[in-house]
Amino acid sequence: MRGELPATVRVVEVGPRDGLQNEARIWPTADKVELIRRLVDSGLREIEATAFVHPKVIPPMADADAVSAALPRLPGVIYSALVPNTRGYARALAAGIDEMIVFMSVSESHSRSNINKTVAEALAACAEVVQACKADGKPVRAYLSTIYGCPYEGDIAPARVVALTQSLLDLGVSRVSLGDTTGVATPGQVRDVLGRLLDRVAPQQLGLHFHDTRGMAIANILVGLEMGLSIVESAIGGMGGCPYAPGASGNVATEEVIHLLHGLGVGTGVDLDRLLGVGLWIESVTGQSLSSKLLHAEASRLLSLVT
Ligand code: MG
Repeated sequence: MRGELPATVRVVEVGPRDGLQNEARIWPTADKVELIRRLVDSGLREIEATAFVHPKVIPPMADADAVSAALPRLPGVIYSALVPNTRGYARALAAGIDEMIVFMSVSESHSRSNINKTVAEALAACAEVVQACKADGKPVRAYLSTIYGCPYEGDIAPARVVALTQSLLDLGVSRVSLGDTTGVATPGQVRDVLGRLLDRVAPQQLGLHFHDTRGMAIANILVGLEMGLSIVESAIGGMGGCPYAPGASGNVATEEVIHLLHGLGVGTGVDLDRLLGVGLWIESVTGQSLSSKLLHAEASRLLSLVT
């Protein structure tokens, strides 16, 4: 019984970037590369690998060039990276990144606080990078953050979300990922915002990007799937919570998204047990517990398989 659900869903793993960028501990380059190798081995085919940002601004991503140079290159595997400006784009291009990601916020105060730019300035910076990507024939997608609420401004007008999504698509990005930056969205709100967007754009031009901060991510994703969206971004183990609160929920956990999808009969190409094994490996490497409920529910079964 799939109803209106898509037959397959592209699950984009963002842990190596969106997860590790927000972890308290900075991972050694070799461990990042091993993490990516294991994620690819589980069947994931789109990996957000790193960010070409200034190392002083985001120290955990200072090794973007070294990580990129060591990525396991396999047919059909797409590595993406965040690029804030044309300088970052030039580095990512030289590093052999397959797909570029530009980013901006709907909220003026979040934009100023996060990247010290107004929304208009941020859109102009995105435009510059997208133009360079088009000239080089490089795929580029976009993140739009604080879709469902802003930690500084509170409510965000859905009309602004629609207008900025349209502006980014008009630049020529392949899709806009709708970031629930602080995990405030609820399913009714998601239905409302997506409904307004789908009056203007196609479902394949939108990506679902939820944080599980308040436990609503899986419910929100289900709403998106039922409305025809088929790209979900998530992080192994639910990595990417607040660096000052170990174990706090960050990005929705990839294994929980896969579990949801397989339970609905939706194909992903991912081997769930292998993916759960990656979660256990992370816990063994970091000595810290991940926030994923599924991982903890399945841990003893998985460990009995390997011993
Ligand atoms: Mg995120």
